[in-house]
Formats: sequence, C-alpha cells, structure tokens
Amino acid sequence: MTSIERIVLHLAARHDGILAELIDFASIPSVSTDPAHAADMRVAARWVADALAAAEPLTVRTIETPGNPVVYGEWLGALGKLTVLVYGHYDVQPADPLEKWTSAPFTPTVRDGRLFARGVSDDKGPMLIPIEVARSFFDVTRALPINVKFMFEGEEEIGSPSLDDFIRDNKALLAADVVISADGAMWRINEPSLTVASRGLAGLELTLTGAGKDLHSGRHGGGVANPLHAMARLIASLHDENGRVAVAGFYGRVRELTQTERADIAALPFDEAAYLAQVGAQATFGEAGYTTLERQWTRPTVEVNGMWGGYEGPGSKTVTPSEAHAKITCRLVPDQDPEEIVALVSRHLEAHVPAGTRLSITASDHGARAASIATDHFALEAASAALRAVYGVRPLIVRMGGTVPIAELFQRHMGLDTVFFSFSTADEDYHAPNEFFRVHRLHEGLEAWARYWALLGEVHP
Ligand SMILES: [Zn+2]
Repeated sequence: MTSIERIVLHLAARHDGILAELIDFASIPSVSTDPAHAADMRVAARWVADALAAAEPLTVRTIETPGNPVVYGEWLGALGKLTVLVYGHYDVQPADPLEKWTSAPFTPTVRDGRLFARGVSDDKGPMLIPIEVARSFFDVTRALPINVKFMFEGEEEIGSPSLDDFIRDNKALLAADVVISADGAMWRINEPSLTVASRGLAGLELTLTGAGKDLHSGRHGGGVANPLHAMARLIASLHDENGRVAVAGFYGRVRELTQTERADIAALPFDEAAYLAQVGAQATFGEAGYTTLERQWTRPTVEVNGMWGGYEGPGSKTVTPSEAHAKITCRLVPDQDPEEIVALVSRHLEAHVPAGTRLSITASDHGARAASIATDHFALEAASAALRAVYGVRPLIVRMGGTVPIAELFQRHMGLDTVFFSFSTADEDYHAPNEFFRVHRLHEGLEAWARYWALLGEVHP
C-alpha cells in the first residue's frame, strides 16, 4: 500500500476522535467582536496551539498582535519540496439571535449527520482539518510530503485589523510558495468546486443633518427639510432605473468579461428558480445586461446595508428628525481600488445632497481589493486533482461574490497566490442561527487535504 493510502486509512480510523476534537473546539465562544469574550479568545488560541503541538514535531508559537494572537506552527523537514502556508481563523461570529437556535450555539450537537454550533463551518471545522492531517502524516510516515506553515488568526470576523501589519512585519517567517486557505466555502454540497476569484470591499457611513435638533412635526413640519426624506432621495440617486450604479467613474477600471469567461459561467449549473426559492425572493434583480451569476461574481455593486433615524419605537411620535443615517458597502472587482471607490461615491453623494441638509461621510477602514488566481496555477491544478480523487468528478471552477481580504493581503505583501480549499458549504448558515457543518464533509476534507499535500509533494519548486 502506498503511503498516501495508509494516511487516508489512518485518518478514517480517527474520524470519531477528530469529530470529538471539533466539538471541544466549537464549544469555546470565541466571538471576536464582543469584548465580553476577550478571555474566550485566549482560550481558543491556546486550544489551537495545543492542537498543533499534538501534531508533533510541529513547532508552535503564539504571536501577539495589537488584538487577538496569531497561532503559528511549522514543519520544514521536506528538503527540496514546496512550502505552503495554511491559513484559517479561530474566531467566530456572534451567536444572536439566541432564541432562533434549536440547540445552544456553544453546545455543539450532532443531528442528522450535521454538527450544529456557532463557528463550526466558519471556520473551526475547516481549519481543524489540516492540523489533523498533519498529525496523521506524522503518525504514519514521521514526515509531511511538503513543508507546511500554519497561520491561524483570531480577528477574521472583525475584518482582520491586525493582519495587514502582521503579514508585512513577518514576511520571512511566512515565506512560502503558495497560500492554502482553509477558510472560504464550496458553493454547493453536491458539486465540488474551487473558487478562483473573490470580490473586494469598500464601505462608508453617511449622516444627513437638517435642523439642529429633533422638531415637533406639527409645529415645524413643512417648514424645514426632513433628513429621512432627503436620505431616501440621496440613496435612490446611486442607481439608475436599470440597476446600474450611477456614480460617475464607478465602472472606469472594470474589465468586461471575455466571451470565454461568459461562456464558462453560463455553462455552470445554476437554476434561477431554485436559487429564488432558497433565498425566499420573488425575482432576481440587478444591473441589466448580465446574468445573475455574472452580477454576483464579476460586477461591482453599491449596496445600502442600513438606514435609520427618527422615531423607531412602538406607536407613533410626531417628530421631524434632525438626522438620518445610512451604511453603504461596495463589492469590488479586479483593478478597482477601495479608496478610489470611496472617493468616487463620496463625490457623487456630495453632488446630490438634497437642499436644506448637510452631509458628513466616514469611510470604513476595512477596504479590500478583489483577488484572483490563474486557473492553470500549479497549486490550483493539484487541488483540482485532489478533489477529483475524493469525489470522482472534476471540480467546477467558480468565483465568489464575497470578500476574503487575506488573499489580497498575501498577494500585495508577499506576491503569493491563495488557493481556497475549504470544506464548508455556502448553505451552512454561518453568520446566521443554526450554523452547521456536515460530518461527511469533515471526512472528505481530511482525505482531500492529505491527497492535496501528497500531490504537491510531487511538484518541484
Ligand atoms: Zn471564515
């Protein structure tokens, strides 16, 4: 029996033990956005360091940042072989609304082949997989087929505020041939896929001010501008009637899709009716001239995430509010620059401020560029072969509408491409109540990572 087949059998024999480890890991409420969980972040970082240390002889370090620590591990004993940098995150989204959970979010529970708990799909299950694979390789062959560095952060769910400086300051430590991210998600449960592009993000928050204080709408209504009315008009000015963004220059750097790219996307199985049923919407909507997948993956957007102001309590209150607020984010495609987009959108907003109101804008500091990897990249081809070995079919090449800033950070600071090799699936309700991770995906992921590393061991750097 070849060593990879022995590894795969070894992993299969450990399935129950690995699931038990994941249950233990997912019971730690490592909610990075909530200061009340600061101590839990430490507990989770320690848990990850211990899990890495259990894969002896990996060397492990917990490295402080201004926020939550990065847990780092490495084994560099494969002379003349590739070095990969494995990325994942041990922090999770908040669990609320708690009443919508069938079982408590930090009491991991298996039902119908699914493990339910906050963070189990994003990203604790997927990031535990390569650690356990390293452990089996060491148990069976005393070595890994390639050099591996692990980097697990604890701030992904809050926009990775420490990661930019961390990567910039630790280039030598992190040096590798390619990044493999255990974070991300496959788009469908029954169609293995590899994601080759993700959109970037730029955000801003606006406040429109009318009168200097809230006014009685009987005494003052009709006398001064109502900022909520003005905000509705201002927001409406951002798009034309065909769903296209009306901001001057917004599409200036956007590359039009080639015929081949459009044909590839059109060839993917996508059932619009099933999609609508899944999201509970009446109809698709967006920029005219593009299919739904093209709009979600390859076109930039301007989206209002929240608008508020005035009286929102029960009953009515006759107020002409003094302020109206909105939060806007833009999804970006390759070549768009977050700062430039914020400037263009700001200029548009300033030029459209309704009479009688004043506008103030705050740019979010969480901007990220879009990222992509060449479809013939050696590490993508090996990933494709590994998935094919596990699933028996060639994986689909897809893109992602969301933003994974790490790919852009590794590209910008280190010139490294990122392969997303996650066994989470897009329907697993991460960021929502009743997040789950399919137990069979844990098993498939273990085999796939083992085969992936074995295949990369045959690539000569
Ligand atoms: Zn994640």
